[in-house]
Amino acid sequence: MTEPLRTCCSCGMKKPKHSLQRFVWKNEMVEPDPKQLLEGRGAYCCKDEQCFRLLLDKKKKWKRLFRL
Ligand SMILES: [Zn+2]
Repeated sequence: MTEPLRTCCSCGMKKPKHSLQRFVWKNEMVEPDPKQLLEGRGAYCCKDEQCFRLLLDKKKKWKRLFRL
């Protein structure tokens, strides 16, 4: 069985789900979801500090990502 691929919302790279960090929208903030179990619309980002920072910078993108 092949692992589903997810796209990093910062750099746009497609990677296996487990190698990306999942985030959900919670309490008006981006919340990491290490176990990938939290409810809500999630976004994926590389486990990479640079990519994560990019995600935090793209506040305009959040609306679309998390369907706010
Ligand atoms: Zn990335």
